[in-house]
Amino acid sequence: MEPSPIEQQRSLVTELPGPNSRTLHERRVAAVAPGVGSTLPVYVHEASGAILVDVDGNALIDLGAGIAVVSVGHAAPAVVGAVSEQMSRFAHTCFMVSPYESYVAVCEALNELAPGDHPKRTALFSSGAEAVENAVKVARHATARPAVVVFDHAYHGRTNLTMALTAKNMPYKDKFGPFAPEIYRVPTSYPYRDPDGMGGPEAAARALEQVERTVGADNVACMLIEPIQGEGGFVVPAPGFLPALAAWCRDHGVVFAVDEIQTGFCRTGDWFACDDEGVVPDLLTTAKALGGGMPLAAVTGRADLMDAVHVGGLGGTYGGNPVACAAALAAMDTMRTLDLAGAARRIGGTIGTCLESLQDRFPAIGDVRGRGAMMAMEIVRPGTLVPDADATRRIIQSCHRAGVVTLSCGSDGNVIRLLPPLVIDGALLAEGLGVLAASVEEVLSAPQA
Ligand SMILES: *Cc1c(COP(=O)(O)O)cnc(C)c1O
Repeated sequence: MEPSPIEQQRSLVTELPGPNSRTLHERRVAAVAPGVGSTLPVYVHEASGAILVDVDGNALIDLGAGIAVVSVGHAAPAVVGAVSEQMSRFAHTCFMVSPYESYVAVCEALNELAPGDHPKRTALFSSGAEAVENAVKVARHATARPAVVVFDHAYHGRTNLTMALTAKNMPYKDKFGPFAPEIYRVPTSYPYRDPDGMGGPEAAARALEQVERTVGADNVACMLIEPIQGEGGFVVPAPGFLPALAAWCRDHGVVFAVDEIQTGFCRTGDWFACDDEGVVPDLLTTAKALGGGMPLAAVTGRADLMDAVHVGGLGGTYGGNPVACAAALAAMDTMRTLDLAGAARRIGGTIGTCLESLQDRFPAIGDVRGRGAMMAMEIVRPGTLVPDADATRRIIQSCHRAGVVTLSCGSDGNVIRLLPPLVIDGALLAEGLGVLAASVEEVLSAPQA
């Protein structure tokens, strides 16, 4: 394996964005549809591990991993090797026309890794939204029922069906309707904002009572949930919430579909976030980290559900593209050999300690939460639960100016989330967190406007 040519160190040689990034940004503004945004207009030239090198030669610390995608790190050697090797043999045949082994091998690996010992089948797609759409297709086909139950703060994608499944209007849904019918939204478990003393089972009862009263269990094809919400604010449900939902689904013939697109593949310290409470979903959607940076997504599910769909009912031209499958096999192998689940738990410990000590000093940090290398803090007006999106934005911008990529999330845009590549070394993580702490201090110590 060749050593990484890019040092795992932050280094700023211009202000951010630098002159070359600003020139590129002008071209971008003239050429690219503005509906596609970017968190920071610093253009990347190359990347390795947890470092992004921009077109001006600045080296930034990446605490976002391209939104939980490059868990194995940027340009992970095994992924680079597998992709080049596959690319030189063939790039595409369409699995629905002329199949190949790597597609089968990815399905075998997912069937093995997904929670539960029951027989499973997998189908591959190209994006997370497409996987979610197909999970709903399978659930409706297998149950011959129409309704889909989703939760407050949910994010499931940007296609028509997944917009409907997503909770937040701006920016995802605004004026993009009409939306798909038969989608019903119920409250989730949000320990920081739920009434005092509401545990997981009580929050589940609140949601299920609403489903039974307003939809009717017999009409529900599937209940779809992120085991820890991603875009919605890294909301970790109270213990007992997911098991209670899963049990209700089992009792009522409802497909329990878990969206692990952001949480999957070692991010939370297990292969899947479901593993934490031993929850076994009927259908599991994955994408993001699955492909090690290549676009790949999957629906893995109980064989009896997946086998219900007729031949030709599922698929897509690019779904399970051979280059993406080669990348996924290498990425999963890297996760196993480097024990990235263990790494995620260590990273989570380090981040948690840092965020909790900040919370002790700044009452505007209302909540610190997360699991493994999926950690966040929620910013509020001190002494209240009122979200402070403005302070959140200023903290993040301050990090960006100092060369640390951090992301926000949350229905109110007031959550700072940290989800670094799982290969980040301790010193680099500490440096990134030091910059974050300084940004928090700068923004939250300033007199309130
Ligand atoms: C990112 C994400 C999606 C959508 O995936 P795309 O690849 O962007 O279509 C769906 N669900 C969750 C939980 C996600 O985080």
